[in-house]
Amino acid sequence: MNPLFDLAGRTALVTGSSRGIGNALARALAEAGATVVLNGVNAERLDAAEASMAADFAAGRIRSCAFDVTRDADAGRGVAWVEENVGPLDILVNNAGIQHRVPMLDLDVEDWERVISTDLTSAFLVGRAAARAMVPRGRGKIINICSVQADLARPTIAPYVAAKGGLRNLTRAMTAEWASSGLQINAIAPGYIHTEMTQNLVDDEQFNSWILGRTPARRWGTPQDLAGPVVWLASDGSGFVNGQTIFIDGGMTVVV
Ligand code: NDP
Repeated sequence: MNPLFDLAGRTALVTGSSRGIGNALARALAEAGATVVLNGVNAERLDAAEASMAADFAAGRIRSCAFDVTRDADAGRGVAWVEENVGPLDILVNNAGIQHRVPMLDLDVEDWERVISTDLTSAFLVGRAAARAMVPRGRGKIINICSVQADLARPTIAPYVAAKGGLRNLTRAMTAEWASSGLQINAIAPGYIHTEMTQNLVDDEQFNSWILGRTPARRWGTPQDLAGPVVWLASDGSGFVNGQTIFIDGGMTVVV
């Protein structure tokens, strides 16, 4: 392996990695050599994900820690658990997220707040807990999983659009405060990726053909499409990349 991308000896925490994009990113980081901690709220699903991944790696390389990223105390406890039981946290991927599709005129404030807290506040809470450990060490990588909705707006997903736009700017705010302490904080902004979150859109013939027409690459993305960029951002190969949001969207955001 090119030593620039070798993550051997590093510890990574990927939030929301019991399935979908987070799980693919966790696997990619492990394949690059990192010891990876999986996370989710559903303990049964998390245990199953850990067992299935652990079978492919040396003992102790895949761990898991269930906690709710929207809760301040849980975020602190989760990061402390990693530091005490696995090793100093080198790489945090803020990936956990949800979506809620309702026209804004019918949207309850509870649902607004649930999406904002899962898709935006969580990155502040887990990011701050991680940075409190990383800043004194003078190194650390934080990768926020944003979305093309940070730059575009689809109807019926207002809190998601607001949260992802906020997350893009939070990536810059974290850079403004922590880059001088040796931390690198960047984001990736995926286009439409086929996962459980988007299964109903894949199944919707009209939406599906709209996506294929709207995406220059003429296909849905896969979680695997995001693996290379995240390994690169987690590695020494991206040593002078700070505060960027990299769109991985088959060209969706560069054509009209
Ligand atoms: P999935 O719905 O497939 O997976 C979501 C993951 O987040 C699960 O592991 C889930 O855990 C976890 N999660 C949800 N709430 C919490 C919480 N409060 N605390 C801890 N973990 C939580 O989603 P995707 O894989 O599709 O999406 C992952 C990320 O990528 C999200 O941030 C999403 O916005 C973003 N994204 C997705 C795109 C897509 O097209 N799919 C496009 C652009 C961005 P559990 O199993 O316990 O519920």
